[in-house]
Amino acid sequence: MTDSFETIRQRMVQEQLSCRGIYDPRVLAVMAEVPRHLFVDDAMQANAYGDHPLPIVDGQTISQPFIVAYMTQALQLTGTENVLEIGTGSGYQSVILSRLCAKLYTVERHNNLLSGARRLFDRHRCYNIQSKLDDGTLGWPDYAPYDAIMVTAGGPEIPEPLVAQLADPGRMVIPVGDQEVQELQLVTKKDGLVQVEILERVRFVNLVGEYGWEK
Ligand code: SAH
Repeated sequence: MTDSFETIRQRMVQEQLSCRGIYDPRVLAVMAEVPRHLFVDDAMQANAYGDHPLPIVDGQTISQPFIVAYMTQALQLTGTENVLEIGTGSGYQSVILSRLCAKLYTVERHNNLLSGARRLFDRHRCYNIQSKLDDGTLGWPDYAPYDAIMVTAGGPEIPEPLVAQLADPGRMVIPVGDQEVQELQLVTKKDGLVQVEILERVRFVNLVGEYGWEK
């Protein structure tokens, strides 16, 4: 079984990532390595490498492999960065990020998702991940500034605290829009200047919190 997942995963990298503009060799390598099927329900393991998002608990979703790779690549991590992720969910994206940076801080508002993710962090020996249960729209001021920030839920606007906690220079990817569709925005801070670039049209679950949706 392990072998067959390995084969399916290599095929996912080739068919869904390499030929669609994912070129960063470190991102491709980590996507080929992390066992995505372990981050979904047993009943859904066979679909884990499909070209689509999958439901996890509490009405949340684990993003499509392409989106995970695309957002990760946009952060241009080299391995030395202090990174903040908002929306731990299954923990899949967190493990991907943790292997590409120095230290990952991740915030989740649902307790059972966070405890499930923490078990997987231990299982994958991700000792450079620190996580907490909180409203991630407030960021995590204790360890700021962050060289890179990734938000994996969509809100109506870019939360002000996240811009404040972004390092200079720094990069943030975040879906912004209404509750149905959003645009993926790349926020860069350089020499005190904050710029926003629109990347892709995306659909994420709601970012719920003080600087997100009410419910
Ligand atoms: N990156 C995740 C995707 C999870 S879906 C993965 O790879 O599985 C988005 C997650 O954001 C959900 O788990 C949801 O509970 C969480 N979320 C929504 N609003 C949040 C907030 N204000 N703070 C922290 N987490 C939030």
